[in-house]
Formats: sequence, structure tokens, C-alpha cells
Amino acid sequence: MARILIIGGGVAGLSAGIYAQLHGHKTIICEQHYKTGGNLTGWQRGEYHVDNCIHWLTGTNPNSDLYKLWQEVGALDNTDVYQGESLYTCEKNGDTLSLFRDIDKLEKRMLEISPEDKSEIKRFIGAVKDFELIMGVGGKNHNKKANFATYVKLFPTLYSYFNMTTKDLANRFSHPLLREFFVSLLGYDFGALAFLCVASTFCSDNGGLPKGGSHAMAQRMTNKFLSLGGEILLKKQAVKIDVKNGNATQTLFSDGSKIRADYIILTTEPSVTFEKILPVKMPKELKADYENKRLTRFSAIQTAFACDLPTLPFSADYIFELPVKYRKFLKTERLIIREFSHETSFAPDGQTVIQSLTFCLENTAKDFIELRNYDKNAYDNKKRQIASAVYLAITEKFPSLCGHLKLLDVWTPATYNRFVGSEIGAFMSFAFPSKVLPIRKNNRIKGIHNVIMASQWLQSPGGLPIALQNGKYATETINKLEERKVSTAKSIVTKPIKA
Ligand SMILES: Cc1cc2nc3c(=O)[nH]c(=O)nc-3n(C[C@H](O)[C@H](O)[C@H](O)COP(=O)(O)OP(=O)(O)OC[C@H]3O[C@@H](n4cnc5c(N)ncnc54)[C@H](O)[C@@H]3O)c2cc1C
Repeated sequence: MARILIIGGGVAGLSAGIYAQLHGHKTIICEQHYKTGGNLTGWQRGEYHVDNCIHWLTGTNPNSDLYKLWQEVGALDNTDVYQGESLYTCEKNGDTLSLFRDIDKLEKRMLEISPEDKSEIKRFIGAVKDFELIMGVGGKNHNKKANFATYVKLFPTLYSYFNMTTKDLANRFSHPLLREFFVSLLGYDFGALAFLCVASTFCSDNGGLPKGGSHAMAQRMTNKFLSLGGEILLKKQAVKIDVKNGNATQTLFSDGSKIRADYIILTTEPSVTFEKILPVKMPKELKADYENKRLTRFSAIQTAFACDLPTLPFSADYIFELPVKYRKFLKTERLIIREFSHETSFAPDGQTVIQSLTFCLENTAKDFIELRNYDKNAYDNKKRQIASAVYLAITEKFPSLCGHLKLLDVWTPATYNRFVGSEIGAFMSFAFPSKVLPIRKNNRIKGIHNVIMASQWLQSPGGLPIALQNGKYATETINKLEERKVSTAKSIVTKPIKA
């Protein structure tokens, strides 16, 4: 049994802690915030609940391998999963197309919109079905897995998508609405493979929404960890790890306290860890990602409104192109809005919450963080302006919402920077481009024996499943190191003593 200190109580930290407790280790999670969950969170604004995270949780189909892991960590304990009819709807020139969960319906609708794109539509639908097989949720009943022969057969299709961006994929279609469909959710520069992954996840019932939303899921994982005997220290910010002779000896916290442990699992972003908390350089392969111009970090600007209109003019996520007058200020072409009518506990009877999201890249994210740090009044003012622009854009799109939206909150990259400590307020790892394989990086740090990484930044594009898996792998690495210790000790004991 080892004493393990985990820095960060997000999904990666909770997962590492749960698996460590299951393997008999003694684990403490230190979280800088006043609650666990990290980005997997939500908060109350009066009678309303704002959900920060899950748009789709990969691994909600019981046939998938991930589902078993989510079960093991208690994330889906006694929890219904809401499987919506569509993941998002986009529009162009007054017509709409939704990513339907029923793939036949999706194909039919695409063909109805643009019969002249038939061959490309068939190719795309075929690729989604192929990808479902790779994820182990293929076939009509979503219970078929790809075997070696299937991989060989699928290779040419997958390779062609691997080489494309979402923009390249969109450009294969002649109809403007179909082109819009492929770029509205992830933008132009994501890998087409990422889009295939999203579509196949959703179409195979493997990307549902656990009831209660993000905060409730984080709470279930926290309860699981505590029920296994783990310990959580909140408002405990790690500031420095002392290293001596290749071993981390103790961790210092902002409150002046110190904790010693046999192993430390780090879930923090590498750019805020290396040469800051940990007095060593970032491992080369991670540094290469930060220096790779094709890998971008992103964050988002979001708003939440209470809505008292009983019947909404859209469902699930709705993505629309912003009128030009809003684009410069909101620094985006499209607005993603989302309604939570499936979560009756998020608002009083007959009401719901509507949220908006616009992605932003590193420079915009940094501007928000600087503004918040150096001119809080100007930052608050900017948030008010964002709220008005978003309100006007939404009500211009859906006039029936006019007078029925009450602002609950606005949050920005600066919010993420403060609450989860990511450098530019990023909440996932690098955006997943074309021609890059999302290979998981080594979780060990050269020259330091007992510090293991579990950060989502070890594998693009991050996200909840990556955080879950990296937490588990960190514990497995410690188990191996411990086994090696035991077998080395045994071999020393059993070595014949030389006369
Ligand atoms: C708007 C939004 C939508 C998203 N949608 C989805 C989705 O639909 N599906 C999906 O899979 N993922 C989604 N994600 C991403 C997902 O939330 C993250 O990938 C995941 O939560 C990352 O978990 P983590 O534990 O690796 O990191 P984090 O959540 O960042 O957790 C790290 C934790 O470490 C703590 N910490 C940092 N520094 C220190 C320190 N020095 N000392 C102590 N504690 C520290 C932080 O406070 C935090 O709690 C979304 C995220 C956001 C914000």
C-alpha cells in the first residue's frame, strides 16, 4: 500500500483517487477550489441551475468499454441517461438540419436537402457506422465491435478522413446547409475524424446526458471516492513540489502546510505545472505539442438566461450564424445556444435555462484574463455588453423569446483561469486537427521517480473520458512501480549470501 497525494479534484483526480482506493492505497486529493469536479461542474443562481460542462458524455451506451469505467467510478450510479433526439441543429438560409441520433433519419434528411450530394452523404453515413464499430457500439443494436479484418477494411476510409479538416469535409458537399452542418459545431480547423467521432458517439446512444447534469455527476464520483475511504482537502492549492535525488519529497501549499507522500499524481495543466509547481522542465513530447502551431488551445465565453416561455422555439443545441453587427464584438461567426428543458430540476415549474457558448482562441482568452486581472470594472462592463449582445442576437433569431429571458450569469476564459487554474482558461486539451493521431503521451517524468501525470493534456482533445482514463492509468503506473519494489525486495532477500 502506498500513500498517494493527488493534486486536483477534477475528473482525472477523482478517477485516480477511486482506482487508487480500489487497489488498497491511501489517497488524499487536494483541490484548490471550494468543491471537487473541476470543469465538470454547475452552480446555482437563485432558483436556477447553470450547467458548465456535459454536452455529450461519451460512454453512456452499456455496450461500450467506457460505460464500464464510468460505472466503476460511480459516475452513472442509479442514474438515468437522457438520450436526446438530436445533438444540435444548424441552419442556413432559413432551412435547418439536425444531427439526429437515428442515423437513418439523418441520412434521409440529408438526402432530402440535397439529392445531388447523394454519394458524399452515403460515404459520410457509412463512415459514421464504421466508426461506431471501432468504438465497440456498431451495428443495428450497437453491440458489434471491429475486429482486425474490419480495421483493415476500414483503413482507407478512415485514412481519408484523417487527412481532412472539418472545412475540407464540408467542401465535399455542394449544398450550403450540408456544408454548414460540418463546420457549425467544431469550426473549420478540427480534424474531420473528430467530427466523425462525435457523430458516431451520438448516433450509437453512446453520447447521452446523465440526469442531474455535470455537477451531479461530479458529486457521485466524489461520493464514490469518499465511500472508499479517500480523503479530500478543499481550498488546498499546491504551489511547489520539492524534489531531491530524483524523488518528490514534499508538496507545499498556499496555506503554508506541507504534505509528504510516496507518490504524487498531477492533474494540473502542464504549462502551469512545469518550472512552476514542479522545478523541472516540461517533458519534450508535451512541450512539442505546446510549440506545434497546428495544435491550438481554446476556451469559451458563455451566458445563461432563465426562460419563462413554456414552449421553446428550438430544442437541444441550436447553432446559428450571427448577424455581422455582432460578430466583431463577440469575435465569432456563430452562436451556440442550448436549452435544458430535459432537466426539470434546473428551473421552477414551467421554466427552463437557456445558455449560449462561443468558442475563443488563445489570444482572445488571454485578453479576458488580463482585463479581469488589471481592470475588474472594465471586465464587468464587458460581461454586461456580452450579455446584451447575446440577448439581442437570440431574440432577433427567435422573437418569441423577447421579454422572456432574464440574465443569470456570464462567464469567460478568466473564470476558468481562476477556478480550475488552466493557463488561458482552456477546459479541454488541444483542438484535434487533421493529420494528427491522438496518441496518449507517457505519464512519467524523466528524472522524477514518484510523480505521475494524469492530466487530460496527455492526449488531445482531452474531455471527460480522457480525464477518466488518465486517472486510471496513473494508478496502474503506481501499481506497477509498487510491484517492482516488492519483487526487487524479494530478490534481495532470496539472494544467497556470499561466504
Ligand atoms: C463548457 C464546457 C463544455 C464541455 N463539454 C464537454 C463534453 O460535452 N464532453 C466531454 O467529455 N468533456 C467536456 N468538457 C471538458 C471536460 O469538462 C474536461 O475535459 C474535464 O473536466 C477535465 O478534467 P480534469 O480533471 O482533467 O481537469 P480539470 O477539470 O481542469 O480539473 C483539474 C482540477 O485541478 C484543480 N487544480 C488546479 N491547480 C491546482 C493546484 N495548484 N492545487 C490544487 N488543485 C489544483 C482545479 O481546480 C481543478 O479542479 C467541457 C468543458 C467545458 C468547460
